[in-house]
Amino acid sequence: MRQAAQEVVRTLREAGHRALFAGGCVRDLEHGAEPKDYDIATDATPPEILRLFPKGNTVGAHFGVVLVRRGGFDFEIATFRAEGAYSDGRRPDSVTFTTPEEDARRRDFTINGMFFDPDTGAVIDYVGGEADLKARLIRAIGDPVARFREDYLRMLRAVRFATVLDFEIEPHTWAALKVRAPHAAEISPERVREELDKIWRSPRRVKGFDLLVDSGLMGVLLPEVVNLRGCEQPPQFHPEGDVFTHTRLMLDLLPPEADVPLVLSVLFHDIGKPGTYSYDAEADRIRFNGHDKLGAEMTVGILRRLRYPNHLIEAVESGVANHMIFKDVQRMRTAKLKRFMARPHFESELELHRVDCAGSHGMLDNWEFLREKAVEFAAEPLIPPRLVNGHDLMALGHPAGPRLGELLTQIQDLQLEGALTSREEALAWLAVHAPMPDSAAKTDPA
Ligand code: ATP
Ligand code: MG
Repeated sequence: MRQAAQEVVRTLREAGHRALFAGGCVRDLEHGAEPKDYDIATDATPPEILRLFPKGNTVGAHFGVVLVRRGGFDFEIATFRAEGAYSDGRRPDSVTFTTPEEDARRRDFTINGMFFDPDTGAVIDYVGGEADLKARLIRAIGDPVARFREDYLRMLRAVRFATVLDFEIEPHTWAALKVRAPHAAEISPERVREELDKIWRSPRRVKGFDLLVDSGLMGVLLPEVVNLRGCEQPPQFHPEGDVFTHTRLMLDLLPPEADVPLVLSVLFHDIGKPGTYSYDAEADRIRFNGHDKLGAEMTVGILRRLRYPNHLIEAVESGVANHMIFKDVQRMRTAKLKRFMARPHFESELELHRVDCAGSHGMLDNWEFLREKAVEFAAEPLIPPRLVNGHDLMALGHPAGPRLGELLTQIQDLQLEGALTSREEALAWLAVHAPMPDSAAKTDPA
């Protein structure tokens, strides 16, 4: 990809233009990371770029950006530009084509404001990005209060870069972020979701969680999580402390590669606790009756608010709604257990259960039981094909209706328990337990 990007730069240069790598890819190259993409900045105007790349996509040409494909990769070529006022807080009202230096100054953070000359390997740094990269600092370019006011998404980007890169946020930038945090409510939900997801995907997600809470962004974007603070729990099951501490601890116990639905189910699994808190005087203990159900409802509300797709909402909702059932698994009949384990999000829910236990009382007996059962059941599908189906039963004379469904479930239970292993056995069982007037005669030669 770098070679292809370099060819794009060369094409622009051979036509007499200036052209440089710009922004995130320069940060990554200087930081020793592999860039996800290469953005190219040039003094060529969009019509000039299009003359050199006639197949270029002009969608962004209005803002001075042309999309070009080379070597199977897409590259954004943007004309050096300054940006006008941000009256809507997300998009500049106008852009004017200008110098590389001004182009650097419109960017968000110093580490994102550098250019790179791929021919000489020189970094062109007008904003002190190299020093901040070495010092591992996220620092706004210019006055941080003004820069956040132009586009409040930059507050979330600051937290995201600090999390993903494991950098610190420079004190003035941090102070401005805290002052401006209430305005995070004005960022579009889709943009919030994209940034939060990048934080949750990072192995350093707990650092992101702390920065979101300490900055005040969490209180604006996910107040339900901040509300877990001070929600006391029975100490015999939760020696670690309140629900907030428990949730944070679980986040820390997740494997580095945990996916977004799993992280969200950790964040929200006990979100119904503050709303269901009660004190049982007789037993002298705190209870949260129905917190799983309330939590699942709240989860759906939060995820809809952030415009998550339905398949993700269903996965997280299932994790929250079912997390209390795991304490019953050792008492389940085999058929019920197999059905529980065969549900679509079981693997992720099992991991939620593991960190739920590890982040509180530490007893993993239910988790170990389920792992052993998974090995024991591994030889065949958890839910194998049915031995008989509805057509078979109707052919025997059973009328369609609820009774038919009950019979099929009974037979499947026995199949899952290992009591019925073939079609013949299932038919024989039916003849005994649900005989038809005439089939009974057929199976009884006497
Ligand atoms: P990554 O692609 O790894 O998420 P990036 O730094 O490349 O990080 P992009 O969103 O791809 O981020 O943006 C490319 C560049 O555009 C940034 O490096 C930065 O210079 C500039 N930029 C992006 N978003 C903003 C913004 N909201 N305000 C100011 N400059 C921005
Ligand atoms: Mg990028």
